[in-house]
Amino acid sequence: MAEQKRDYYEVLGVNKNATDEEIKKAYRKLAKKYHPDANPDNKKEAEAKFKEVNEAYENLSDPQKRRMYDQFGHNGPQGFGGGGNGYYSYTSSDFDGFDMGDLGDIFSSFFGGGFGGSSRTSRQRNGPIKGADLRYNLELTFEEAYLGVQKEISISRDEVCSDCKGTGAKNGTKVETCPICGGTGQIKQIQTTILGQMQTTRTCTNCHGEGKIIKEPCEKCRGKGTIRKQARIIVRIPAGIDDNQTVVLRGEGAPGQKGGPKGDLYITIHLKRHSIYTRKDDNVYCDIPITFTQATLGADIEVPLVDGRKEKYKIPEGTQTGTKFRIRGKGFKNANRNYEGDFIFTVIVQTPKRLTKEQRDLLVELAKTMNEQPPIKKKGIFG
Ligand SMILES: [Zn+2]
Ligand SMILES: [Zn+2]
Repeated sequence: MAEQKRDYYEVLGVNKNATDEEIKKAYRKLAKKYHPDANPDNKKEAEAKFKEVNEAYENLSDPQKRRMYDQFGHNGPQGFGGGGNGYYSYTSSDFDGFDMGDLGDIFSSFFGGGFGGSSRTSRQRNGPIKGADLRYNLELTFEEAYLGVQKEISISRDEVCSDCKGTGAKNGTKVETCPICGGTGQIKQIQTTILGQMQTTRTCTNCHGEGKIIKEPCEKCRGKGTIRKQARIIVRIPAGIDDNQTVVLRGEGAPGQKGGPKGDLYITIHLKRHSIYTRKDDNVYCDIPITFTQATLGADIEVPLVDGRKEKYKIPEGTQTGTKFRIRGKGFKNANRNYEGDFIFTVIVQTPKRLTKEQRDLLVELAKTMNEQPPIKKKGIFG
């Protein structure tokens, strides 16, 4: 699983009681130090540090987020097993070495919670920006949802341009730091008013807030840094997923900007109707026809389960039509907790419509023993 995250205070090198001003100061110092542009020889490592510092600052500079962090740490207040309309989450790296047998472990990582954390405020305008989240609707058969399935989907999304590696500058040319704003994308102005000195900030018009100037744009992406591509993605759907549930693939959305992380891909599941089975919660329901002699005398029948196997079941004698029977644990796997629903079938007694003469005679004899009026004999059918 993911590496242990460092404590945000530790990342910024401040103590837990640090004032907002101290946090801001520490952040500025570190952001400057680790800015990828300032570390051309060590870009990758610097970028990772830069992201870490930004994330720490994002959380500690917002009073509400900071309070949450102090109280709950990195996991946030949602915890696990939140239930409800749970979001299933995994990252691309979880794919390695994953097979259907591991699904039990994956279930434990189901959690409640929503789309929080991706909101941006103007304050972070010049910091790293997370890439856009993408959405996809995936239709599954009843059996696929029951067993879990691997699907390949094709989505159109922006990807980092391979020619310029996302810089937007033509191969071999450099992206220059904007000389007007010094790379911050913003211009600070001090105005003296009757109320004293006021500092205002406006977006740098020279670089349009980007902080960078591209002199020769990359020809492949026309300076955008990204290219729209048709991406093929393998989605692993856990067994037991229900209609309208969402699988989240972290980092499979659009690329981030200014060192920000990639967006996520939200896949909403739609289940096709089945000709025999229906589902309610984690239980599977179906009707099973039996003959009237089976119902009367009792019988060992074979019940067709969703996974294709047959389960032997003893129907007791004297079973009425419409009676429900339950096979425990043969329903859907529960998505949030580690148990299975039940398979519930209703027997429908079939009244025979065509009988041989011998069968009919036997039934007439039977009827006599039951003190019933024997049925009126039809002429011309049995000779
Ligand atoms: Zn490019
Ligand atoms: Zn500028």
